[in-house]
Amino acid sequence: LKRKAKVHEKIARDVKLSAVLGAGIMGGGIAYQSALKGTPILMKDIREEGIQLGLDEAAKLLVKRLERKRIKPDAMAKALNAIRPTMSYGDFGHVDIVVEAVVENPKVKHAVLAEVEQHVGENTIIASNTSTISINLLAKALKRPENFVGMHFFNPVHMMPLVEVIRGEHSSDEAVATTVAYAQKMGKNPIVVNDCPGFLVNRVLFPYFGGFAKLVSAGVDFVRIDKVMEKFGWPMGPAYLMDVVGIDTGHHGRDVMAEGFPDRMKDDQRSAVDALYEADRLGQKNGKGFYAYE
Ligand code: NAD
Repeated sequence: LKRKAKVHEKIARDVKLSAVLGAGIMGGGIAYQSALKGTPILMKDIREEGIQLGLDEAAKLLVKRLERKRIKPDAMAKALNAIRPTMSYGDFGHVDIVVEAVVENPKVKHAVLAEVEQHVGENTIIASNTSTISINLLAKALKRPENFVGMHFFNPVHMMPLVEVIRGEHSSDEAVATTVAYAQKMGKNPIVVNDCPGFLVNRVLFPYFGGFAKLVSAGVDFVRIDKVMEKFGWPMGPAYLMDVVGIDTGHHGRDVMAEGFPDRMKDDQRSAVDALYEADRLGQKNGKGFYAYE
């Protein structure tokens, strides 16, 4: 294993400039973490208010670090300047890696990936932060699938140490190694996993959400389930976690998993999550989900 790691170090390219597509919950977190650990990052969204939210979130986290004396004022200013908001692909020709973090919808992701490939260099790595969609399926949108991998962060990005690096059937060793090295540079613990819907963590997590949804459908109060899971020792219960993740993201992810594993998820029909999605209760991102937020 050690020998293998050394080989990987040799072929990994240094990431001097990166980019993130989508400045939402995940995109904002990825931009913050990259900038904090010294890699400047372009942050692109299609909505101006989306970019502002991403920047506000990064600034809030940096202020917290400053208050806790975990960063000096000049380093804080440097990190803030390292996040370069944009609405265009203007500077994308210079980036070493682009992390796509737009909505969890295969059609939208296909269109965004095909578009960004036209604006980056021939060797630029394109990585998707999808939580469930197969990397091989997404790679079909690309002319250079060898430069494509999954780079799956967890929420909140600044706190969660794990990053799944997903190797697709066409991903080159160099693309995988460079993505692993970039995750390490960001202070994360990457693991390389093979491709399938949900990869490793969400193959475990979605059946858990399915079990939760069935209990709620059977009439059990979701607050009670959350309290029990907290007593069990988890930092939060499934309803609160769904609100943190985003009801829309959970809803779309469940559809992807049900298509990928129809035999295992065939009983997961309509659930409380679908009802919340249809009522536009998207969780913490819009102030109301299972719970209501200020
Ligand atoms: P989000 O809804 O908070 O943000 C999505 C952002 O993408 C929005 O700001 C939207 O304006 C932007 N966007 C949409 N189309 C775009 C385009 N064409 N170009 C640029 N930006 C565009 O979503 P999120 O929770 O950050 O999720 C993003 C991705 O990360 C999804 O694939 C999701 O599955 C994955 N993910 C989410 C979590 C989580 O807990 N929320 C965890 C891991 C992975």
